[in-house]
Order: sequence, then C-alpha cells, then structure tokens
Amino acid sequence: MRVAIVGAGIGGLSAAVGLRRAGARVTVFETSAAVRAGGSGLSVFANGIRALETLGLGPAFASVTDRGVEGFTAGQRRPDGRWIARIPTESIGRLRIVDRADLHRILLDAVDRDTTGPDRVASTAGPDDMGEVSIRCDSEVISARGDGTVVCADGRTERFDLVIGADGIRSRVREAIAPGHPLRYSGYGAWRGITAAPVDLDGQAGETVGRGRRFGIAPLADGRVYWFAVANMPADAVFPGEKSTVEQMFTGWHRPVMDLIEATPAEAIHRTPIWDLGAPLPRCHAGRIVLLGDAAHAMTPNLGQGGGQALEDAATLAVLAGRMGDPARLEHMLDRYDGLRRSRSQDIARTSYLVGRVFQTESRILSGLRNAVLHALPPRLAAGAAASVQDWAPPQC
Ligand SMILES: Cc1cc2nc3c(=O)[nH]c(=O)nc-3n(C[C@H](O)[C@H](O)[C@H](O)COP(=O)(O)OP(=O)(O)OC[C@H]3O[C@@H](n4cnc5c(N)ncnc54)[C@H](O)[C@@H]3O)c2cc1C
Repeated sequence: MRVAIVGAGIGGLSAAVGLRRAGARVTVFETSAAVRAGGSGLSVFANGIRALETLGLGPAFASVTDRGVEGFTAGQRRPDGRWIARIPTESIGRLRIVDRADLHRILLDAVDRDTTGPDRVASTAGPDDMGEVSIRCDSEVISARGDGTVVCADGRTERFDLVIGADGIRSRVREAIAPGHPLRYSGYGAWRGITAAPVDLDGQAGETVGRGRRFGIAPLADGRVYWFAVANMPADAVFPGEKSTVEQMFTGWHRPVMDLIEATPAEAIHRTPIWDLGAPLPRCHAGRIVLLGDAAHAMTPNLGQGGGQALEDAATLAVLAGRMGDPARLEHMLDRYDGLRRSRSQDIARTSYLVGRVFQTESRILSGLRNAVLHALPPRLAAGAAASVQDWAPPQC
C-alpha cells in the first residue's frame, strides 16, 4: 500500500512508524524546512504508553523517561501551596513526562532517518518484511482529494492508495472531509517552558489552581522541569515580553513556581492560544482520506491527552493496516478505524473542554466550590475517572 502522511508531528511520525512496520510505502509531507518538535514537555499517560508499545517504541520511550515520577506527590494546590487534593497513585501510575525533542528523536530514529535540512528527501527501506518511509520537508500540502491525490504548494501532485491527514488543528486535508469546519477559542492561553538545569521539587508536582490562572509542574527524567502556566486572555493578546508577563502573573505563588520561571531562558518560553474543534467531526474519513491527531480531534490540553489520542490513532491505523491493509479493503478498514477512534477521542475532547471551563473560572464562588468538590472527592471516584480515559488497548482484529 502506498500511503501519504501529511504532517510530521507526533501523530504523523508515529503513523509512519506503524505503517512502515505494517509493510506500507510511506511518504511524509512536512511543510517546515526540518522535522521539529513543537512545544516543550509532554505528559504521556498509560494509554499513550500502550500505543507507543504497540508501535514497538516501548523500550525507546522508557529510555528517555523516568519511573521516579511515580514517587511524587501530585494533585492540586492553592497558590499559597496548601494541597486541595492529592491524586491517588493508581490514577497516574504509568504517567511519564517526556521532553518533546526526545520523543521526536525516537520517532525519527524509528523511521530510521535524518531529515534535517531544507528540501531533503530522506528515504529508507527496512528489512524485507517492512515497508519504507521517505520524509519530504519544505513540502506544504494545499489539498487532498478523495481519490488519493495530494497537491503540494509547488504544484506537484501525486496519487496514493491512502492519504492520512496528520496536519494538526488547522488541517488542510480536513477540508476534503469537512470543509470550513469551525474552531473554537477556549478563552485562555498557555505558556510552556523547560528549565535549563535541574530544579529540586521536593517530591511535589501537579497543578496549582487560582482564579483564572493555573501553573503545572512536571519533572523530566534528568531533573529538569517542564512547566506550564495558563491564564485567561483574548486569542490575539500581545504582551511586551512573555517571560516578564508570566513572572508578573504568578508573583506570590508558592515555591518553586517563580524559581522554575526564573530557571528558564526567555527564548525557551512560548505561549500558545488554546483552540479546539468547534464541534465534533461527523466522520473522519472520506474516499481514500483519513484524519488523525489534532486534524481529527484537536482538543484543549486540560487532560494532557491530545498527543496520547494521536498515538492511539496511529497505533490503531497501524494494527488495522497490518491485518486488513489490502488496498481493495480500504473502505472497510477506514470504517473500522472511525468506529474505534472517533467517539472515544471526541468524548475526551468534550471532557477536556469542560475541565478547562471549571479550572479557568475567575469567580470566587465557583472556584471555592470547585476546590471544595476536589477536596471531598473520594479517591475511588477520581481513580475511576482517570481509568476511563487511560484504559486503552489496541484493536484485536
Ligand atoms: C499547551 C499545550 C499543552 C499540551 N500538553 C499535552 C500533554 O501534556 N500531553 C498530550 O498528550 N498532549 C498535549 N498537548 C496536545 C498535543 O501537543 C497535540 O495534541 C499533539 O501535538 C498533536 O499532534 P499532531 O501530530 O496531530 O499535530 P501537530 O503537532 O500540530 O503536527 C502537525 C504537523 O503537520 C505539519 N503541517 C501542518 N500543515 C501542513 C501542510 N499543509 N502540509 C504539510 N505539513 C503540514 C506541521 O508543520 C506539523 O509538523 C498539549 C497542547 C498544548 C497546546
């Protein structure tokens, strides 16, 4: 099967890894001049790890993450540092925090290529029973058609048995399935950073929640710390300096919030306005086109599941392609993918949006109520809610 993947993000690269293992000949189109990880750190829960294992990447992922995170006390704190609630250990038992650059390197190693440099066409053939992957950087796809045709900005067109749209929230490929599908601004933006050097967290991580503001702390394997700061703002907000703004907004919050911001170089702090899909897609495939990752179900990051869902999508497609990847049975395969993936990812996106509404409230009364509920929530219920998101297994065909 000849497969085009549009986008070399987490979703596109992991699909390339899986489809290559399934014997496909894969071409990845990436608009940027080089394959790069966007963002800084990433929380990967049990479901995402299972998907990575399905793709054969379990050991590589384990080598850049640390089980030590399991020993941390996590949950929600007040800005003065008092705990509102501690998350039961079983809810985040397999959580791992990874530097996105490491995850991208693992994915690239698995397609066995160095793809840096503009216009570089990298190509590899695997062992006999494997397919091959070529990654074309500087190749923006402007449209895809149901017959499998991909049209690039430079005018090149090429036809494939299957086109996978993994081109993120502002997907061009999605236009072929749901033209003009709306996006929704959440009302908040998020800064992210990784400290330049290790910072002692005293065994405590998780989120600190104020009114309309949140700060998240997540330890990386080498002692550096991935952090994020969320605040309500218009989508087009402009600040004189990102680092000075985030420092100002979180002044007075408990230690080590300011230490973490200070330990991060200004050029390594980036802000992202948070959008998701304005409505769930009615379907995620049409003809020879299928969507995965943010192109299919861009969600707010409140559950830390956007990347995990992209990994599940990729692992599912890979398993299905391995077992029923005959081009003649494509429609059946894509129907099955849609059935396995769409409602699960859309349910998670819906919950994530609602969680964001609750955690970003500026109301004194509502935030007090939220904290009281979090405090009173029986650990069994919290663990059950986490399990419903994190329990995932690859399809048994
Ligand atoms: C603040 C924040 C925190 C987050 N935290 C987490 C977390 O802790 N855990 C988690 O699991 N998820 C998290 N996420 C979500 C996660 O980052 C995304 O869900 C994930 O990166 C989506 O991957 P993707 O490959 O689908 O899309 P993307 O990462 O957007 O990749 C799309 C790729 O396609 C390329 N592209 C775009 N258009 C074209 C085109 N026309 N032609 C060719 N190439 C194109 C882009 O250059 C890019 O390389 C977070 C998101 C945000 C914003």
